[in-house]
Amino acid sequence: MLPPEQMLELGPPVAEVTVHAVNPWVAFAYLVSGVFFILALRGLSSPATSRNGNRFGMAGMLIAVVTTLVTHDIASLPEIVAAMAIGGGIGFVIARRIAMTAMPQLVAAFHSLVGLAAVLVAIAAFLDPAAFAIVDANGAIEAVARIEMVLGAAIGAITFSGSVIAFAKLNGNMSGAPILLPGRHFINLAIVLGIAVFAFGFWSGEHAIDFWLVLALAFLIGFLLIVPIGGADMPVVVSMLNSYSGWAAAAMGFTLHNTAMIVTGALVGSSGAILSYIMCRAMNRSFISVIAGGFGAEASAAGGAAKEQRPYKRGSAEDAAFMLKQAESVIVIPGYGMAVAQAQHALREMGDLLKKEGVSVKYAIHPVAGRMPGHMNVLLAEAQVPYDDVFELEDINSEFAQADVAFIIGANDVVNPAAKTDKTSPIYGMPVFDVDKAKTVMFIKRSMGGVGYAGVDNDVFYLDQTLMLLADAKKMVEEINKALAD
Ligand code: NDP
Repeated sequence: MLPPEQMLELGPPVAEVTVHAVNPWVAFAYLVSGVFFILALRGLSSPATSRNGNRFGMAGMLIAVVTTLVTHDIASLPEIVAAMAIGGGIGFVIARRIAMTAMPQLVAAFHSLVGLAAVLVAIAAFLDPAAFAIVDANGAIEAVARIEMVLGAAIGAITFSGSVIAFAKLNGNMSGAPILLPGRHFINLAIVLGIAVFAFGFWSGEHAIDFWLVLALAFLIGFLLIVPIGGADMPVVVSMLNSYSGWAAAAMGFTLHNTAMIVTGALVGSSGAILSYIMCRAMNRSFISVIAGGFGAEASAAGGAAKEQRPYKRGSAEDAAFMLKQAESVIVIPGYGMAVAQAQHALREMGDLLKKEGVSVKYAIHPVAGRMPGHMNVLLAEAQVPYDDVFELEDINSEFAQADVAFIIGANDVVNPAAKTDKTSPIYGMPVFDVDKAKTVMFIKRSMGGVGYAGVDNDVFYLDQTLMLLADAKKMVEEINKALAD
């Protein structure tokens, strides 16, 4: 205690703050793991360094897990090991069985678990604050812990219900079309205000009812935020929920006094938010409008409309091989159908065969091609397509005018000119590849009836210079390869 005259100099005494002692070695280990996570993100920013990025991430996670196991002040070692064995076992089986095309819904399902974990941690801390060492001298929950708890519960609940809806939409259990409640913006605003009022009530009075109301309203708003998003805006939702799950983990880290979780959660949260922003820019959407929901509202109408029968040219693998051999430059546009067919290896082989013939082969990747951010990059890298042959939309779009062949394999929305010309289209405004400027367009898909994710017809099918190659993508490319090799 300071003598009274010195206390006067320092001003009035401030409220007592509990400091949670941290072993300096634990803090150091968490710092190292945090640095590794930052290096992981840096590595993942380019395909050439992404393997190293993954290694850094794994090493950082190993350090964090081992440090937590060594300190294990929340649960006993056998409890932790049993939980890890069950969770790890389930994760292992799911990861081995899951098809690459089902990854987006798997990611959404995993995000929902992160949200649920944050909710459960907040509830546990609320029901037994002493076990979390967050009780002050008067037996109440520390003021700062009340804020962390209510934030963790709210963000976790939004992440959970939002991810469940995203899972249902991506998995086809629910229509991908937006569901628009009348006056939804006012309803959402009222709920957000309600959450803020009850959160303040919980912080100031520690009333249980306020805590449970925040939780219930947060579950509801997560549901209401994602239900109206449809058409082609799901990529933004996937990365936005990724961001939410990071913030939920960071909030959990505060409640559990775990620095590694706070750092990792904040990294995931902020990188997910940046990715969402980048995706919005790529889709030419306003971030706020996508979050507020309702984009792609016309998707169901457009998708549901009866399609008129229009003439188109159908070609065979032999026709395609002949024209490809004659070409000087070919630009390949992969999309979701390539992932479904797992045609990336055959495609790489086709690229190699054409290069032997002296044809220039480039790959053009749209930021929302496939069903998750980076989907096409991962598949092409898996097939060992050289990174130097792979180009982003803005770097290659001007080259279609000089290209002999635009070779579209399982892509549809990302090459649909309706995005440029049809104001009623759910993808209107999204930048697309100018494939119609190429001398010849080859379009691989299984049937004329199938549509892309946004559910709209594509004028490119019916252009004079378009050759429709109707078959499974892998089968068609393998046949083209056979014809090229003959
Ligand atoms: P699309 O979904 O627009 O089109 C897929 C095409 O592949 C269809 O023409 C389909 O036609 C064809 N196809 C499906 N299976 C096969 C197969 N086995 N062999 C050959 N063709 C096949 O794909 P894009 O990649 O062009 O666009 C992605 C869309 O997904 C965008 O609208 C985007 O907004 C949305 N999306 C993207 C996410 C992301 O993060 N990247 C996340 C969620 C949604 P057919 O059935 O006739 O074969």
